[in-house]
Parts: sequence; C-alpha cells; structure tokens
Amino acid sequence: MVFHKNKLLRSWIILLYYLASAFFFQLMHCIQTTNPHNHCSRPLSRIVRNQLIEQFYNAFQVKNQEPHIKCPLHSSRDLYSVQEENKIQEYASKWVCNFCGKAFYSEHYLDLHFDNRHGDQLLKGSTVCLADFCDIFRCDVFRNQGKDNFWEKKLCKENKLTVRKKRCEALMRSCLPKGNLSVEEEFKLFEEISSNTCSLLNCKDYWELPSSEISPWKVVFYAVVTPFFFMALIVYYYAIWDYYYVDYPQYSNIGSREEEENVSGGYGSRSTHLRKRYGGRTLMY
Ligand SMILES: [Zn+2]
Repeated sequence: MVFHKNKLLRSWIILLYYLASAFFFQLMHCIQTTNPHNHCSRPLSRIVRNQLIEQFYNAFQVKNQEPHIKCPLHSSRDLYSVQEENKIQEYASKWVCNFCGKAFYSEHYLDLHFDNRHGDQLLKGSTVCLADFCDIFRCDVFRNQGKDNFWEKKLCKENKLTVRKKRCEALMRSCLPKGNLSVEEEFKLFEEISSNTCSLLNCKDYWELPSSEISPWKVVFYAVVTPFFFMALIVYYYAIWDYYYVDYPQYSNIGSREEEENVSGGYGSRSTHLRKRYGGRTLMY
C-alpha cells in the first residue's frame, strides 16, 4: 500500500514538472514573439539618433542632399523610426502615443507601451539598430554626463580609439551621396559630418560634450521661473526691511521731550519705542 502511494506521488511530481516546463517554454516563446527586437537598446539608440538629428542630417539638408540610401545611418533604416515618428511630446511630462492616443509621464513609459502594444510597428526589411554604433557615437559619455570619468581618462588607449576612428570615417564615407556633389563639396560634407563624431575619437577629446546639450524644455523652464524667483526674493527682503527697520512713532506716547528724542535718536534707542506699521507690536531681534 505504501509502495503504491509513493508511486502515485512520484507520478504527480513528474506530471507537474512537465507541465511547469511546458508553461515556461511557452511563456518565453510569447515574450520573444511580442518583442523580437528587444536586443536593440532603445535608450542607446536614442543617444545615437539625437546626435544624428542634431549634426548629421542637418549637414545634408543644408546642401539639399540626403545620405546614400545604403548608408546604415539613413533615417529610413532605423529599426524604431516608425514608432519614433509617432511619439508626440506635448510638454515636458506628457508623451502621447500617436497610434492609440494614450498619454504617459515620460518617454521611458511610452517606449514600454510601444514594446507591449505596438511591436508590429517596427520597421521591417533591411533595418539597423542604432545602438550598434554606440562605440562611434560615444554613448557612454552621453549616458554618464556629470560623471568624473577619472579612471577612464587615465586608462584611455589611443591606439584603440584610432581603430575606432578609422571605422567611423569609413562609415561616414559610405553615407556620402554618390555623384551628386563635386569633389570639393563632397570633401567639405565629409569634414562636417566627421567633425562631431570621428574627430573626437582620441584620448584628448573623447569626453567632450557638445555645448548645446541643455534641453529646450529646461531653457523655457528657467526663462519663466528665474524672473519670478528674483521678484519673490525682492519682495521677501522688502518685507523684512519693512518689518525691522521702518520707524513709526506711537503718537499717543509723544508728549514728553525725552521720548521724542528717543524716536529721532540712534538705532539702539529705536527698539524700545518703535512699532511696526500695523498692529503696534514691539520690535524683535
Ligand atoms: Zn499606443
């Protein structure tokens, strides 16, 4: 009887083990199906994308040109380009999904929403994960803004960065529009698109950040808040000065010559006779 009980228990354990395994593999499959490109970091891709928007694409637009279609940095090849085009930032803490209208407090939560609800809106075909170019676009420097980087600077290896610089220059050359520009114009464009990326890949300049790294929202915030702050400060000090230093004699006490002298006397004598404008309270120090 005991033998049969043990056999039954063992069968149940084995059955539960197989069910748990099947459930686990199914769950993993679902996660991979829902977000097949979760290997491509969104925050790092964003760092690269922002640099491209600020420096790279502008250089082409000024010359009425576009990067070569086979250029990996071409905006049409960015894995997240469709989703990025459907982000709306209404103000600093309101991000709206243009696919369904849902609003979020931060870009991070909107990104999570894209992963969970709009995974089908990833670019298909010949796509590029911009985070793969982080070594060239110095994502580590942008991500650790404000950090000292003392040891990184001390341990910097120039030859390693030289190899990276050559890769960067080859990448930039592959993006030049073929045959549309003269040799001189092509050279100028190359110099321009390399100046904020490849030319910084050396131990001296690697940790330099562009001066225009302050977000536009911060500029607006400080522009609005600063005048109010100074006005509040002026009002505060005026109130303090008014409370402690403005003299108002108590006319009921005026009668004796001695008190009148005290009212018009030195600073020390004021404390006993002067009152605040309203309420007649004694001065406190
Ligand atoms: Zn949505």
